[in-house]
Amino acid sequence: MNETIPQLLSYDDPSLEAAFATLADEVRTETSSQRDAEVFRLRWLGRKQGRLKLISEAWLKSAPAEARKPLGIRFNQLKQQIEAALVAAAAAPPVTSAKAGIDITLPGMVRAPGIPHPLLKTMQEIVSVFHDLGYSTALGPQVETDFYNFEALNFPPNHPARDTQDTLVLANQQAKPSRDRLLMRTHTSPVQIRSMIAQAPPIRIVVPGKVHRNDAADATHSPVFHQVEGLCVDTNITFSDLKGTLDYAMKALFGSGVKTRFFPSFFPFTEPSADVQISCIFCAGMGCRKCKQSGWIELLGCGMVDPAVFASVTEERRKLDPADDAYNPAKVTGFAFGMGVERIAMIQHGISEIGHFYSGDMRFLEQFA
Ligand SMILES: [Zn+2]
Repeated sequence: MNETIPQLLSYDDPSLEAAFATLADEVRTETSSQRDAEVFRLRWLGRKQGRLKLISEAWLKSAPAEARKPLGIRFNQLKQQIEAALVAAAAAPPVTSAKAGIDITLPGMVRAPGIPHPLLKTMQEIVSVFHDLGYSTALGPQVETDFYNFEALNFPPNHPARDTQDTLVLANQQAKPSRDRLLMRTHTSPVQIRSMIAQAPPIRIVVPGKVHRNDAADATHSPVFHQVEGLCVDTNITFSDLKGTLDYAMKALFGSGVKTRFFPSFFPFTEPSADVQISCIFCAGMGCRKCKQSGWIELLGCGMVDPAVFASVTEERRKLDPADDAYNPAKVTGFAFGMGVERIAMIQHGISEIGHFYSGDMRFLEQFA
């Protein structure tokens, strides 16, 4: 479209005659050679950059008053010529498709089948390991009350442990008592409380789901991420059961050669608590960049259910049955564990940037098909 506008040096009749004859020739030549009528139409009649508009603007701008009318008439004729050429092009059968028809030997349109998102896939893998151990899946809401997310899990109001989970709270909750205030759950642990209130032991549940924290996004953190949490409560459940269960699960997820080790840790809702490391799956414990030369990768948190949690559950259950004693810590014990799905998926697939999971970039996602 960047062609030069032809110069019109004089506005007398013979000059106009000659200039418009040249334009009419130009249109004729193009209609006979142009295959795409739409390109032709835009080139001449385009509302902003069309040749007809540009030329008429240029010529009319410097035209003496008496030349404007003959110019206008000639531009109209030119426009009619272009429109007639377009009508003719539209009426003519399209050359290629009319000859070729539909070629049924050409490959058809390939519609790729959908695949599970890599995070959902990993989450499902973790869940199914515990299904094999007799656990069932429990789910809960992402918008939680302070009671289920914190208080019942032994995070009293104003307790410093709450600061370790920077919480997104819902607006306009100040009028409510603190335990009823709504927030985005910071972990899947409230589902433990909901399940125990609803069901007497024995209980074996695994809780996959989305959690929210007011964290700045970086290579390994996202304000929204996924956890899988587990809870087992029964008579005679010991720390050995916890160790055996998690050791089995890690071997099922990462291969039978993987070793586990447990370190003392702290969580308000378990006592004692532990962090679990697995031997580095990249270097088999020899030390590499991925494990910062330590040979171990920290993977999850766990512990024995704190009796204070059983006490909160009992308090709620007694609102329905004052004699309820199902979660008496003298009779039952339990363990709980939780892990980040993103972290495990990143280790499984060697992904260094958590943002890839949420980008929707097909180049990334297609690798998991
Ligand atoms: Zn390593």
